[in-house]
Amino acid sequence: MSGRERQIQIAFRPLNVTDRWDSAAIAAALTPEQRLDLSVAALDLVAAWSCTEVDHLRTDGVISPISRAGHEAANQATEQLLDAFVAMVPRDDMLAPNGQPRIPQNLGLVCERCGCTENDACEDGCSWVTDCVCRSCAAPWEVTPNG
Ligand SMILES: [Zn+2]
Ligand SMILES: [Zn+2]
Repeated sequence: MSGRERQIQIAFRPLNVTDRWDSAAIAAALTPEQRLDLSVAALDLVAAWSCTEVDHLRTDGVISPISRAGHEAANQATEQLLDAFVAMVPRDDMLAPNGQPRIPQNLGLVCERCGCTENDACEDGCSWVTDCVCRSCAAPWEVTPNG
């Protein structure tokens, strides 16, 4: 069974691709203290990730000290980030009117039917039939002769 057939059998709700999560607008509305809390947690997380990228595993399966410490730092920073986020952003602001979480603004075009994007195209490659439907998902009558 191909991925395409599976998509058709399971009726997913279409994405709301227009009502986006706008991090820049959210950040602009935060107090300086809130922005500092979020920045520290975000920077800690990136620093932790860089630690986890070093000498992952030995052949005997033992994780390197830098990677082990990095993973714990990443766990802590993720918790800090989520705590700060939950304290600052009302849950309703995260949701689109259809009740689904808003898709981040930075993602660019997204297919409302399959969720494919510019950097995560459908298996056989796809293009945009409209700003929110990709060629793999479009019905024949939705595709213009030149589209
Ligand atoms: Zn699609
Ligand atoms: Zn696609």
